[in-house]
Amino acid sequence: MVKVSIVRGDITTMAVDAIVNAANSSLLGGSGVDGAIHRAAGSRLLDECRTLGGCPTGEARITAGYDLPARHVIHTVGPIWRGGGEGEAALLASCYRNSLLLALEHGCKSIAFPSISTGVFGYPVAKAAHVALRAIVDVLYDHPELDVTMVCFDEKTLGAYRFDWNMWYAEYKEHHD
Ligand code: ADP
Repeated sequence: MVKVSIVRGDITTMAVDAIVNAANSSLLGGSGVDGAIHRAAGSRLLDECRTLGGCPTGEARITAGYDLPARHVIHTVGPIWRGGGEGEAALLASCYRNSLLLALEHGCKSIAFPSISTGVFGYPVAKAAHVALRAIVDVLYDHPELDVTMVCFDEKTLGAYRFDWNMWYAEYKEHHD
């Protein structure tokens, strides 16, 4: 049985092994969840990020969590929505997959994600929820020891992830168990 929780909240308060940051490719901080994570982690997070030399879209990098309750921050760069014909879905799926594989390499079991790309990057939330949950479940079937939480910042985002989960997960389970 895979463990995925979908909750409403602020990811900076999550006491998990790793929280995921929806970063931009410079990894030098930004608005939205990125800004909130840097503010809560303190300036040592930016110091470590400066040593990483950025991150391409779809990939992930790991740092310490500093003043956060989370032990690590996994920084991933989501795609900017350009209408859906520019490989956005594959890139978004890579963000979730690469973040989870990096978490596993570092012995992290509990991981919290924000809704990557659906803020400033403009990815439609219903479409993003579908891609995100499929990518997460695909990794969890091979790694049932992982415990994933989707942390949705607002009611609309929470509704989109819950709706998608209820729509397809039961069917997916039937075919994979
Ligand atoms: P992106 O540039 O990838 O679109 P944003 O940070 O603009 O990233 O938005 C991604 C999502 O993160 C949005 O749903 C936004 O509401 C949400 N968000 C913003 N602050 C937080 C937070 N503290 N915890 C969890 N989610 C947050």
